[in-house]
Parts: sequence; C-alpha cells; structure tokens
Amino acid sequence: MVTHLEEEILQQDFRILKSLGVGSFGVVKLACHLPTNTQVAVKVLEKNPTAVADNTSEVEILQSLEHRNIVRFFHAIDTVNMTYVVMEYVPGKNLEMFLRNVAYLTEDEARPIFQQVVTAVHFLHQRLIAHRDIKLENILIDRAGNVKLCDFGLAIQLKEGQMLKKGCGSLHYMAPEILAGKPYDGLAIDMWSLGVVLYVLVTGQFPYEERTYHGMYKVISNTNYPLPYHLSKPCCQTIARLLVFPTRHRITISQLRERRWLGHIKDHVEPAKKEILLRVVDILCTSGYSCEEIVSTLTHRQPNTKLTAMFNILKHKLISGECHQENGKFCLNTSHVGALQPLFPLKRAASAPAFPKIIQAGNYNLEEEGEEGKAKRFQSENMLDKLSCFEMLPSSEERLKKGNVCMANVIHSATGTLQCT
Ligand code: ADP
Ligand code: MG
Repeated sequence: MVTHLEEEILQQDFRILKSLGVGSFGVVKLACHLPTNTQVAVKVLEKNPTAVADNTSEVEILQSLEHRNIVRFFHAIDTVNMTYVVMEYVPGKNLEMFLRNVAYLTEDEARPIFQQVVTAVHFLHQRLIAHRDIKLENILIDRAGNVKLCDFGLAIQLKEGQMLKKGCGSLHYMAPEILAGKPYDGLAIDMWSLGVVLYVLVTGQFPYEERTYHGMYKVISNTNYPLPYHLSKPCCQTIARLLVFPTRHRITISQLRERRWLGHIKDHVEPAKKEILLRVVDILCTSGYSCEEIVSTLTHRQPNTKLTAMFNILKHKLISGECHQENGKFCLNTSHVGALQPLFPLKRAASAPAFPKIIQAGNYNLEEEGEEGKAKRFQSENMLDKLSCFEMLPSSEERLKKGNVCMANVIHSATGTLQCT
C-alpha cells in the first residue's frame, strides 16, 4: 500500500551518496541508511504496468532469499510512481567491470568466482526459481573476492515442470530455445547463461557474437564456438556440457556442482537465526522501540516500515560479521568502522525529492546541516554508539522480562526477515 509515510521514511532515513550503476531496468544508488549508519544500495524502479516482469516479483523473490552469494534484501519503499529496493551494498565491481582490466582469468582465478555463482544458482534452482538474466553485469564481486548474484528483475518462481513463453534475457547469454521463440525451461536457460559466464571468464570473449536474435540463433545452430588452446580438458568439457543444444543434453545445476573442474563447493550454512534475532531485538529496544512494537512488526500484525528496515539491516550486520561476539558479548568489528563513519545529512526542504542530488561520500557541509540535520546526525551517532557499546547492554532475558511480552516465543516462530505487508 502506498502511503505518504513511505515518502517521509525515504526522505528522513536515507541520504544518497553516488550512483553505483545503471542497468536495463533501473538505476542503483549508494545511500546511507541514517538510523543505522549503514551504506546500502538502493535500486530505483519506475512503476511500469507494461514491463515484462513487475517490480513486485523482483521484490518478492529477492526478499525470500537469504544466501551469502545473493545480494541481501533489506526493504522496499513504495511511492506512487516508484519502488525503491533497499539492499546490501557490495563494495566492489560487477564482473564485467572486473574483467575489463584483465581481459580474462586463468582457470585457477576463475574457479573460486564461478564456484560462488554456482552456489547461488543452486540455491535458486532448489527453490524452483529461475533467474533468467545471469550475466557478468549481474554478478558482483567485493574486494575480498566474495561474489553476490544480483538483479532479480526477470526472476520467476516456477511450478514443477512449468514451461515459459515470454522471451527475456540479454542477447549474448540467451539460450537457443529462447532465441527460437519456443516454450522453454527457465532453469535450463540459466544453465546456458552459466556456460557463457564461464566461457567469458576463462577466454575474455563471448562464445557466440551476433547482433540480432535471428543471427545469434543461426550461428549457435550451425557453428561451434572457438576453444583456445590454453584451456584444460576438464574446463572445456564443463563448458561443453553447459553450452549444449538441445536442452535435454544440458547439465543441471546439481550435476554442475559435481564436475571435477569446479573442485569442492562448500555447502550453504544457515546462520544461527534465533540468537541473532534476539540480539537485533536488544539493539532496537535500546534505541527506543518498545517490545510491543517489535512484536507487532515481527508478527506482521501492525508492521512498522521504519522498524522493518532497521531490523533487516541490523540482522544482516550481525550475520555478516560486522559485529562479532567476544566472551558472549557483541562488539562492533573495527575493520568495518570505516564503512560506518557517520555520514552527516545535509539540510533538505521537506518538499524536496527524496534523492535530490548526488553527493560524494565524505563531501558533506556542516554549515548547511541545520537543526533537522543535527537531530538526525545525533540519532545516527547515537545508534553507532549503541552498537559500539553493545557489550554494556543487559542480556536479552532481562530485557524480555521488562518488555512484559513473551518475545522468546515470537522470535522462535519468526521467519527471520521482516516484510512489509
Ligand atoms: P538492472 O535491473 O537495471 O540491470 P541491476 O540490479 O543489475 O539493474 O543493477 C545495475 C548495476 O548496479 C549492476 O550491474 C551493478 O554494477 C550495480 N549494483 C546493483 N546492485 C548493487 C549492489 N547491491 N551493490 C553494489 N552495486 C550494485
Ligand atoms: Mg542488471
């Protein structure tokens, strides 16, 4: 439901810093979520009823996914004309930018990257979700080499055995059955795209390059892609099992995981949700939210949009280790403090658009800050202090008693991710 409150939250709680990228469907901005002082990525999507996939399915699918190799959803803000998807910021590059400087990778360099992409796609396919736009631009890599799949704009939840008709994707990564306009299996077309990704990683070129759908289909049907001599046999064989036409000969994601070339892939480990949820509740209680409010939001009885964003962001910080535990207490990791430096908000008129202009991180002007800005900065710094001094807070049990609500039961049954209904 679109309310004025949503616009207000956008204006009050977020400060735009710079552009991160422009894709085919939206622009993605780096922003600071002021109440938690966290850098987030905000994808700005125009509401377009004629689009291939509406924004709702992108939001719904992304918020249902919690995996270390998939960009984490925090919150969606719906205004009259736009949907703002707030998600984890991946400090780094997409693989297309990453490859620009190096041309191609050795197999040993490509393997850990591809392994992580395969892990993410395996997680999706196990849930019968087809991504339908796997390509270098939609794979992000941070400075430590962690890979995250993003852009669920064309993703679709399938029913067992369901075939799809709507053609979509990016020309160079499109499987021949889509190019031919035939009904297709959404999971199998992802496997073709993975084949293209692997090929480009280890050769620096596309296996097939044409400018039209028809031309592309013709060249795939009639020719073999070139294979450079430097590639190992297991690597060539893996590519060949992916870039295969017809579909029935193409390997599935589970079979791909077993390929010798990929080496050992670590299983996905679920984070200790209950413990983390209790910690998040602790932090929220100390920042002024009542237990009743948190419970209402957790159980979707009376969702509080502001609280939802804070909850999901704090939870992600704890899971991803921006906070760590020491002698049973939580502390903020100093290596992450750089990313959490207070980003002072500039003064903005109430009528100004939520994202009026792009400012570079660090380019703030305290003279312009004003009373409203000061109050927000105080709030942000206060939150940061609370996170830093987390070890001084009383334990969850003590707080639960004070809140006079059976929080433990609520948390036990909670889904783990708050959603705004
Ligand atoms: P589109 O649907 O328009 O293709 P994407 O979601 O793919 O939009 O985002 C466009 C670009 O923005 C990506 O290629 C990437 O470079 C950048 N980007 C997207 N999400 C993030 C993120 N969470 N963190 C950092 N950069 C991102
Ligand atoms: Mg994209």
